Amino acid sequence: MRGAVTVGLALAGPLLAMAPLVGAVARPASSTAWLATTDGGLVEGHDAAAYARELQRAEPAVAAAWGGGPFWTLLLVPSSSTAAARLSGQQDQDDVAAVETGGTVVVEPAAWAQLSPVGRQVTLRHELTHVVSGPATTARTPTWLIEGLADAVGFAGSGLSTAQASAELTTRVRAGFRPAALPADAAYAPGSADLAATYEEGWLACRLIEARVGVAGLVAAYRETGVRGWPAAVRDVLHTTPAAFTAAWRARVAALA
Ligand SMILES: [Zn+2]
Repeated sequence: MRGAVTVGLALAGPLLAMAPLVGAVARPASSTAWLATTDGGLVEGHDAAAYARELQRAEPAVAAAWGGGPFWTLLLVPSSSTAAARLSGQQDQDDVAAVETGGTVVVEPAAWAQLSPVGRQVTLRHELTHVVSGPATTARTPTWLIEGLADAVGFAGSGLSTAQASAELTTRVRAGFRPAALPADAAYAPGSADLAATYEEGWLACRLIEARVGVAGLVAAYRETGVRGWPAAVRDVLHTTPAAFTAAWRARVAALA
């Protein structure tokens, strides 16, 4: 999910908003280890120190990709999937290890437990990218760009290959799927068919932008899209047309076969 508040508000807002729900977060009766801090965040929940170590690792990578901070993250580690759904306001979370909303990242504990160490970093960097890019995200920003940027930053330096990170889309393409256009916002709704492949479509689009103008150019295109829309960003940052970009992206998707 996209963040919609400024950095200044994110510091206080989520803390106040979460106060009535604080009982939903795991709090061992005999331990104070349910709170931990990082350079740019606060973790609340069971085993907070372990999550803080993960968050601390993710923060510099995301700040470097975005071109600086500061940003502030509240990471909540609920005691159950039910509590996670209450905190995040998201019901269909079966395959989602964390959700970001307004600068707060809510861990879905059952899905999180299934992640590898690399998967945990990819997930946190993805969600932190939503946090840091939140103030630049507007109604003009298409979801494929929001999620594509988060995945581009999330997977960067992970050691995962393009084939590994686009496995679901590759399967669809080999079965004959050829997208006509970049994914519509509705395709990202929780529970949508082929959701993982849709995320991979947006990721490939952002990788294509990054290949042409670097990660700084990708961020510039993101910022410009939030102000003037995607067509203007394509012209000003990528120096091409939306149609030409979409054609290049379609060729990249087809090449997965
Ligand atoms: Zn996301």
